[in-house]
Amino acid sequence: MRFGTKAIHAGLEPDPGTGAVMTPIFQTSTYAQAAPGQHKGYEYSRTHNPTRTALQRNLATLENGTHGLCFATGMAAIDAVIKLLQPDDHVVSTNDLYGGTYRLFTKIFAGFGVRFSFVDMTDTDQVEAAMRPETKLIWAETPTNPLLRVVDIAALAAIAKANNCLLAVDNTFATPYLQTPLDLGADIVMHSLTKYMAGHSDVVMGALVVKDPSTGSGSLAERLAFVQNSSGATPGPMDCFLVLRGIKTLHLRMERHCANGKAVAEYLKGHPLVDRVHWPGFTDHPGHAVAARQMRGFGGMVSFTLKGDRMEDALRVLSNTELFTLAESLGGVESLIGHPASMTHASIPREDRLRNGLLDTLIRLSVGIEDVEDLIADLERALAR
Ligand SMILES: *Cc1c(COP(=O)(O)O)cnc(C)c1O
Repeated sequence: MRFGTKAIHAGLEPDPGTGAVMTPIFQTSTYAQAAPGQHKGYEYSRTHNPTRTALQRNLATLENGTHGLCFATGMAAIDAVIKLLQPDDHVVSTNDLYGGTYRLFTKIFAGFGVRFSFVDMTDTDQVEAAMRPETKLIWAETPTNPLLRVVDIAALAAIAKANNCLLAVDNTFATPYLQTPLDLGADIVMHSLTKYMAGHSDVVMGALVVKDPSTGSGSLAERLAFVQNSSGATPGPMDCFLVLRGIKTLHLRMERHCANGKAVAEYLKGHPLVDRVHWPGFTDHPGHAVAARQMRGFGGMVSFTLKGDRMEDALRVLSNTELFTLAESLGGVESLIGHPASMTHASIPREDRLRNGLLDTLIRLSVGIEDVEDLIADLERALAR
């Protein structure tokens, strides 16, 4: 089966009780037992819920994995992975990490004794140099936010294998339509389903997918399911239904996000007030060769800086778009515009931000699936003011 067919059908069957074609929202906390311990695989909805099961199976298929696990948020999914570790275990991650992940690692888990190193993962030599005997996990993200840097997943997988540790990849920006890290050797894929997967800016949820054919309590899937149930950050059935519905059009939406992202990136590149445009589809993007190898398209995230490096110029553009809504988040059908320096990355000290290439005039676009002529006209107007 190809991707679009899987997106619509995988894991889903008409409801055996009623024939309902759409997966019902099983809004129930508990399930009747015929005799003590005699049930149909469902006892209590923190542990299992049929709407969630359908979504988890669908996600496992799309990522070419064996098991999917859903969580109340993307952060809860990441939290579950780190809970596989013990004090003094070590994690190698990127210095270009999603801000919430960096906060979880350094402000919560560092306090429980888990050790973290942050390196420039676009340089795999730095990853190799950071590995220690107690390194249990490499945590990667690609493309990154907001500079769209690209990390070589297969190269990281080789380092993880050689050092007998796990590789987890945050695949939120790419989605399985554009990139399947498990096929490249990763052990765990993580998603903020909140973004492209659900795709309509109406739900917050996270997921993990693993490829682990082994079964029993020692398998990766079972260990993560144990954390999922024990920590209890599971999503409700209504939200699972919304994500299932969103995923049915993922392939169509991603095609348009990619086409619109390309058109907007090219338009900005030719604009006299724009300095640099970050989009991995450009052949002069430093990660282009790796992106072309490991991705099936370059996505709808575009960021750019303005000439002159005056923050007030950027703020003027941000307040003058009409179709691009000024907001956090990304990946919905509607276009969004954001200012990392004062929004998503405001908690990072300015010197650290600048060192990492996050200039004051950097503007991030989540290019939606509207008619691209209207999006470009909106940017044209905002840049002219
Ligand atoms: C949004 C996001 C997260 C966190 O997900 P939530 O659903 O907001 O908890 C993690 N990683 C990336 C890359 C994200 O964009």
